[in-house]
Amino acid sequence: GKALITGGAGFIGSHLVDRLLKEGWAVRVVDNFSSGRYSNLAHHRDNPMLEIIRGDLKDAETSMRVVEGVDVVFHYAANPEVRVSTTNPDIHFNENVVATFNLLEAMRKKDIRKLVFASSSSVYGEPEKIPVSENAPIKPVSVYGASKAACESLIHAYSKLYGIKSVVLRYANVVGPRLRHGIIYDIIQKLRKNPRRLEVLGDGTQVRSYIYITDAIEATMLTFKNMNDYFEVYNIGNEDWITVDEVVNVIIKVMGLSNVEIIHKPIAHGVGWPGDVKRIALSIEKLKSLGFKPRMNSIESVKEAAKHVANEP
Ligand code: NAD
Repeated sequence: GKALITGGAGFIGSHLVDRLLKEGWAVRVVDNFSSGRYSNLAHHRDNPMLEIIRGDLKDAETSMRVVEGVDVVFHYAANPEVRVSTTNPDIHFNENVVATFNLLEAMRKKDIRKLVFASSSSVYGEPEKIPVSENAPIKPVSVYGASKAACESLIHAYSKLYGIKSVVLRYANVVGPRLRHGIIYDIIQKLRKNPRRLEVLGDGTQVRSYIYITDAIEATMLTFKNMNDYFEVYNIGNEDWITVDEVVNVIIKVMGLSNVEIIHKPIAHGVGWPGDVKRIALSIEKLKSLGFKPRMNSIESVKEAAKHVANEP
């Protein structure tokens, strides 16, 4: 079959390209290279099964063109930086909601009937207790989370109205090689600039779960292969969760540093920025019912990812 991967030059998208090519799929990537990089796909340069299109999904015609002739769409293009939407809410509305709408319209018009969507744990906002299951209320506290929730709602309606079978995947923090945003990347960048003094956003007690990219891709493929109902939602994360300070300490160790002066910069109730969530972790019982078991826990995932990211240019 032939798969379209939007955002296929990005972090998760490019790993998905690797996996689908390995499984014998023909793959088309569309990416506007805003955060994606050609180098993430350069190792496939001589593979005739991979087609790369530079294009922007905010453009309706581009969306129409790229879905042509594919069996399934993996929609991973988005602006994934939760923090940018605090000052520029329009970015997440356009990059996430408008782009998704264009893609759904293209799928409807071209009769493409399968969709896997990269959503996020941020749709849950600040849950009362963790871990949250897929049935927990959707109450985003960032425009990024709201944009993902809006995409999910559009997808639900399209699947119901036009028979587009859909899998919505709410990812926790996915980490690994090629990662270029989020806490691990930020902390490493800061420590490269100044290995003696580190500013940490928030009071350091914020809680999250981290899943390694190979586990996340494994889970993604499993949910895709089990696609049957018209619309399914899965949490994809780890079974444990750790604090920001634990993440910071692992990174400091991996980089071989010591005596780093750590300065916490909390706002409000100890979070790092408006829209940041204090405690989030996902229940993955539904995913486990498909036979999934993460191979690395949160600390191991952060450690392995930090080793890679710290050695990337
Ligand atoms: P990424 O920035 O590496 O990947 C996103 C890709 O989409 C980039 O290659 C970018 O160039 C491309 N893109 C952005 N806007 C586009 C547009 N309008 N048209 C075409 N291409 C466009 O980020 P990622 O971490 O790989 O995230 C992939 C998806 O997973 C995103 O939808 C993100 O919201 C979601 N997600 C990621 C995480 C995580 O921890 N990494 C967690 C939850 C959800």
